[in-house]
Amino acid sequence: MGKPKIVILGGGYGGLIASRKLEKMLKNGEAEVTLVNKHEYHYIATQLHKTGAGTAADDKITMNIPDLLKTNKVTFKKATVESVDCEKRQVGLQNGEKLSYDYLLIALGFDVNTFGIPGIEEHAFKIKSFKTTKAIYHHIIKQFDAYKEDKDPSRLTFAVAGAGFTGVELVGELIEAIPALCKKFDVPVEKTRIVNIEASPSVLPGFDKEAIDFTTKFVKKNGVELMTSTKILEYNAISIKLDNGSEVPSRTLIWSGGVRGNVILESLGLPLNRGRIEVDQYLRVAGTENIYCIGDAAYFKKNETSSLPPTAQVAIQQAETCAPNLVAAIRGEAQKAFEYHHKGTVASIGTMAAVGKVFGFKISGLFAAFMKQVIEARYLFVLGGPSLVLKQFAKTSKPYH
Ligand code: FAD
Repeated sequence: MGKPKIVILGGGYGGLIASRKLEKMLKNGEAEVTLVNKHEYHYIATQLHKTGAGTAADDKITMNIPDLLKTNKVTFKKATVESVDCEKRQVGLQNGEKLSYDYLLIALGFDVNTFGIPGIEEHAFKIKSFKTTKAIYHHIIKQFDAYKEDKDPSRLTFAVAGAGFTGVELVGELIEAIPALCKKFDVPVEKTRIVNIEASPSVLPGFDKEAIDFTTKFVKKNGVELMTSTKILEYNAISIKLDNGSEVPSRTLIWSGGVRGNVILESLGLPLNRGRIEVDQYLRVAGTENIYCIGDAAYFKKNETSSLPPTAQVAIQQAETCAPNLVAAIRGEAQKAFEYHHKGTVASIGTMAAVGKVFGFKISGLFAAFMKQVIEARYLFVLGGPSLVLKQFAKTSKPYH
C-alpha cells in the first residue's frame, strides 16, 4: 500500500498551523501531505482592517506560504477548491485537476453574511480576504481624488456597517487614516465623515460594559457618528437607507455585519449547521471517519444551542488538536477530544487604544493596545518561531499615506 495522502484545504490560521504541526509530527515518508490555498500568500486575517484603511503595508499582513513551510513533508499547491467527492475521496480544483486523499482537512474559513439586505452584496465592500480588503483602500483613495474634481460630499462619507469586533477595529483605523489622507490630498478634515451604523443598542455586543463605554466615548471623541439601534434597509452605491426613515449619502459602505462559513461548504454534501460543517469532539465531520474540519468552517457545539465562535483563537487551538488526530488516524492510535481554552479577546481601536479581557483581566487604552500587539506576535511565534516574529517586525515598508 502507498503512503496515506492527507489533503488540507485552506492556508489560513487553521490550515497553516495544522500543516506546520504535521511537519513536526510526521516521520519522513510517513504520509504525503498537500496544502491547497487560493493564493500563494497567507494573510493575517485578524489585521485585515488595517489593509482596508491603508494603515499597514502589504508585506506586514501577507506572507509567502512556501516560505512558511519548513520541510518537504508538506507540498503547497496554489489552487481554488471547487468540490469534494467523498465517495471517490477526491477534491475537485477550479483548474480541472482532481486531488485524491485518504484523509481530508477542511479549513476554508469564512464568508461575509449580508443577510439578504438589498444592495449590500452588489455595492458594499467586504472584509473577507486580502484582495477584497485591499479594494477598500483603493476605493477610498479614488474618492479623495474624485472629490477634488466634483466636490460631492458623499465621496468623503465613509460608512461602516456593524460595530461588532471587526467594525470597531476598522473604525479605529479610519480615525487614523482619514486625517492623513486629507493632508495628502489637501482636503479639509471637516469635510469628511466616518459613520458607524449598528443594529444593536451598543457597540461591541457581548463585551463588558466598561469596554462598551470606553469604545463609545473614544470613537465619539474622535468625531465618529455612531448610530446604534439603527438598521440598514438598503444600499444603492450612493446612499444608505436606514430604518429610522433617514438616508446617509455615501459612496463607501464597508459591510462588517457578520460572518458565516465559506459558501463553498454548501456544495460539499456534508452535514451543515447554520452554514458551517458540523464536527464531533475529535473535529471529524459528523458521520465520516476520514474528513476533519476546523476554524470558521466548522460548527463545533459548545452546548445544545450554540457553537464556538469563529475566531482565530479557536482555529489555532483546533489545528493543534486536529494535526495530532490526523497522525493518530494514520498510525491507528486513539483520537483526542478537542477542548477549547478561552484566553481572552482584545479589540483594537487604532494603534493607540484597545479594549478587552485577557486571562480574566479587563483592560483598555494604551496597555490594551500593547497587549493586542503581543497577541499578534504570539501567533507569528506559533507559526514560525522567534525568527518569523523578528522578520515581520523588522520589515520597514511604510503604510500608504
Ligand atoms: P481563514 O483564516 O479565513 O483561512 C481560510 C483560507 O482558505 C484562506 O487562506 C482562503 O484564501 C482560503 N480559501 C477560501 N476559499 C478557498 C477555495 N475555494 N480554494 C482554496 N482556498 C480557499 N479572531 C480572533 O481570534 N481575534 C481577533 O482579534 C480577530 N480579529 C479579526 C479582525 C478582522 C478584520 C477579521 C476579518 C477577523 C478577525 N478575527 C479575529 C477572526 C479570524 O480572522 C478568523 O476566525 C480566522 O481567520 C479563521 O481562521 P480559518 O483558518 O478558519 O480561516
